[in-house]
Amino acid sequence: MHIDRFKDVQHACRFCLMCRHICTVGNHTFQEVDTPRAKGLLLQNIERGLQEIDPELGEVLYRCCLCGYCKQWCVSGFDVPELVKAARRDLIENGIVPKNIAEIKESLIKNDNPYGKKPGEIDPELREYAQCAQAKAGTVLFQGAAARYMQPDTAIAAIKVLQKANADVTVLEDEQDSGFLLNALGFYDEAQQKARALLERLAGLDAKQVVVLSSQDYYFFTNIVPTLELDTGGIEFIHISQKLAGLIRSGVLRPSKESEKTYTYHDGAYMARFASVMDEPRVVLESVVDKMAVMNWSRELAHSAGEGLTVTQPEISLGIAVTRLEEAKEKGADVIVVSCPECKESLKRATSVVKGVEVSDLSELLLANL
Ligand code: SF4
Ligand code: SF4
Repeated sequence: MHIDRFKDVQHACRFCLMCRHICTVGNHTFQEVDTPRAKGLLLQNIERGLQEIDPELGEVLYRCCLCGYCKQWCVSGFDVPELVKAARRDLIENGIVPKNIAEIKESLIKNDNPYGKKPGEIDPELREYAQCAQAKAGTVLFQGAAARYMQPDTAIAAIKVLQKANADVTVLEDEQDSGFLLNALGFYDEAQQKARALLERLAGLDAKQVVVLSSQDYYFFTNIVPTLELDTGGIEFIHISQKLAGLIRSGVLRPSKESEKTYTYHDGAYMARFASVMDEPRVVLESVVDKMAVMNWSRELAHSAGEGLTVTQPEISLGIAVTRLEEAKEKGADVIVVSCPECKESLKRATSVVKGVEVSDLSELLLANL
């Protein structure tokens, strides 16, 4: 059992209430079974013969958004998200996969996106920039499925900003999935195969640097891929906010300032907690806006915007995103800025419920002020 590698987490969490009040999903569903403590207890009960690996357990395990707030809050740093991922792997190996999760997996494998869209069914304007690159490509912009299929404006804005900086960046028309979501859902082997195929493609292009739009993909390339026994071939993975901050710091990009609206920044669980990218988005933001509001919890303690569940648990994701928009509104923000297409997708859905707060991606905001 893969969960056996996390016996310390099971034992520590099963009767601990210390992070119960900050669980992203537990605070939305108000179900005890969704808290970190319950996950520890349920999974420890398997060893004690008190809990079956059954479909009901599967439903619980796929309600966690892997936001890592519990681990961050824990004084001992017990890793509940990795325990949950290991348990999902055990579920899969026992033939228990919720129907919607099985469908998402199929779509990721066949279509390179989790949205059920046909491969390459991308926005016409984005397609104009994309190339079936065969030759060398020193720097590649990795769009990610959320940008390609749901929020193409984020990718288009990033491309236009990089063009204004005279950066020579290749955008792949036939971009493959990274493997991030397959890994998060517990499909370890399939994630490894996807990541390997992508790395081989990038190596074939002789890519030296990959600029990544999605915080989840960035975290996957920098933190998870090395654990999958894959060789990244010395490619430097850099998040778009880091690339843009570098161009601003060096004076290549000189944006003007927007002073009418009040902005706030949503850090995002993967960006801040897992990938530790917190300063660079602020460098970009502070170069274009005058009036900033700060969310109640930010940087590594930032709440999730539901971005880990937009496809697997859309209703829970929506509820979490609504809470974030309400908080931004309470803080007096007219615009909540993100630096990730998944976060934008999640928060944009919530604008149908919470009126009066716009959602903008960092690249779009920068482009509008160049
Ligand atoms: S992660 Fe830490 S704080 Fe949370 S339940 Fe487990 S031991 Fe307690
Ligand atoms: S990773 Fe997030 S959603 Fe999952 S148990 Fe921890 S705090 Fe709750």
